[in-house]
Formats: sequence, C-alpha cells, structure tokens
Amino acid sequence: SNASDALEKMRLRQLTDGAVFEPELPLEINITTDETAKTLTISDYGIGMDRDELVENLGTIAHSGTKSFLESLKGSDKGGADVIGQFGVGFYSAFMVAERVEDYTHSFREDAEHLKWESDGESGYTIEEAPGQRRGCRVVVHLKEGHEEFVKADRVKGIIERYSNFVGFPVNLNGERINTVEAIWLKSKSDVTEEQYKGFYQFIGHAMDEPRYTMHFSADAPLAINALLFAPGENAERFGMGPQEPGVALYCRKVLIDSHPEGLLPQWLRFLKGVIDCEDLPLNISRDSIQDSALVRKLNQLLTKRFLKFLGKQAKDKPEDYLEFFQRFGRFVK
Ligand code: ADP
Repeated sequence: SNASDALEKMRLRQLTDGAVFEPELPLEINITTDETAKTLTISDYGIGMDRDELVENLGTIAHSGTKSFLESLKGSDKGGADVIGQFGVGFYSAFMVAERVEDYTHSFREDAEHLKWESDGESGYTIEEAPGQRRGCRVVVHLKEGHEEFVKADRVKGIIERYSNFVGFPVNLNGERINTVEAIWLKSKSDVTEEQYKGFYQFIGHAMDEPRYTMHFSADAPLAINALLFAPGENAERFGMGPQEPGVALYCRKVLIDSHPEGLLPQWLRFLKGVIDCEDLPLNISRDSIQDSALVRKLNQLLTKRFLKFLGKQAKDKPEDYLEFFQRFGRFVK
C-alpha cells in the first residue's frame, strides 16, 4: 500500500513538476524474496524521501506523510488522488516479523541525497548516505527467526493476490506480474463494458454462469462508497447446496478488508456477489470487529435499501426478467 501511494504521488508530481530524478523509471512495484538471506524486499519507483522526510515519516509513529500530502493538495482536485494510507502506523507493523528494516531511498527531487534509513524497531534509527539508490524506496525486511514464511515466494504471492490484487500499479514478485485484474468498481459505469462486468463477476464470484443483475453505483453521503453487486444467474442453494457464505467482499481503497464479511449485508442477501469499497472504513479495522462496527451497520442498511429499490425498478421495467429472478431467488426476497 505504501509503494502504491508513493507511485500515485509520483504520478501526480509528473503532471505538474518538470524536472524529476530519473523520469524514465516505470511506475511499478517490485517485490523479491531471498530465502538464503531471509529478506523480503519491496521496491517502488515512487516519490521517495529526502532526509527530513525520513525523519518525519518513518521516525515518527502515527505521522502520515500521505495524509499531509493530501492536505497539501488543498486548492486542487483531491478526488483525483488515489491513495491508501492515512494513519501512519503501517510501516512499523513490519517489526512484528522483522528484526531489522532498511529503507534505501532517493527522493524524486533531483538534488536530494541517496540515503539509507535503518532500525531494529527498538533502539531508534540511523540515517546514512547510500550511493546508487534509484528513485523511490527499496525496503529490505530482515525477518525474525520463526517468521521465515514471509520469504517463501508462494506465501507472499498468496498474500498479494488476496489483499492487493487490485492495487492500481503493476506488482511484480520475483519478476512475475501478479495483479492483472482491474478494480472496475471504481470506474464510472459508462467506462465499463458488459464483457468486463461478466469477466469480473466470474473472477470475484468464482462463477461460471453470467450475472443476472448487475448493480453498480457510488455515493458520497452519508458514506463514501463504490459498490458493484451481482445477482448470479442461478441460485446454488436450490440445487441442494448448503447456505452460502456472504459473497460480497469488503474493500477500503482497493485493499481487501474481508472477503466474506458477516454483517455487511443481511443473511438473506447472501446470494449476492461483488465488492463494496468504503473509503470511510479504517484500513486497520480487524475482521472480528466488523460485525460490531456502527459504520458497517450503516453500510448494511444503506446497501439493503438500495438493492430493494433496484429490484423494485427491475420488477416494473422488465417484469419477465424479474419473474425469472424471482423463481430462483424469491425464497430469499420473501
Ligand atoms: P500511512 O501509509 O498510513 O501514512 P505508514 O506508517 O505506512 O503510514 O507510512 C508513514 C509515511 O511514510 C507515509 O505516509 C509516507 O509519507 C512515508 N512512506 C512510507 N513508505 C513509503 C514509500 N515506499 N515511499 C515514499 N514514502 C513512504
């Protein structure tokens, strides 16, 4: 998420700043694992940091440079900035599994220094010069004993695919591109084709059939949400399958929070597939607290209302299609 934010800031800078350091570098994220050295390395060609920014952003817990960045955009269009972090605690979570973290960096500013920030997460940090670093950040995580699973390529791949599959910049693991599906729920309806909706439904719902209904909408108030919901072609429970798990995943700015969140929708809407992305949700909400969250309860009410309204409109506009829907899913609706 930090690498993605750094690239997004770089993208915005490139639009306005003429001279930047190493302008030819692609906006991508490269992750490598080294089982011998027990390191996980996350590199980006993003905005990087200079000395003061290293002190301010990494040396201070609960300071978010990303949040300050958004505030600095004040007059201009903030909605155009597609960033993830705003809490200033994510970076330090590395020390849950790391005995030492190094961050090699060069800011996008041409006259900045090549630097290395290093810490064991307990006794402060050091910053020294480190010639040769390219633009952006290269974070080297030295894993603690007992946490070597995070240098296994398969394990890391699984995590990226699960949580960061929709990050907007290419994510490569040991040279192989991982994220290939676009977060179409954030696009406007007019930019998405029927084919794309169908492909996305089959991807997210692990489905073979076609979606019967597609409901795609966004709202700013009372909550900032982007939602893409599908009613499947068939009701799997009609064929003797047991009750399904909730099929609408909860995301916050393209990052997965929970793929089967209990309580996001009422039980009877468990046949729906899709994605709800809510910007107002704290990224660090735990899966256990989702059900108790007042915000999630609000989301539940809002989404249920919208879906019922949508069904009402379908029944009126296309009664024959609706009848087919009702023959399959009427049990739930009743
Ligand atoms: P958050 O992402 O919620 O702001 P973090 O603790 O993860 O909090 O990061 C703190 C700050 O460090 C970020 O806001 C950002 O300014 C800076 N930072 C972290 N990683 C990078 C990176 N890869 N490139 C540039 N800046 C970064």
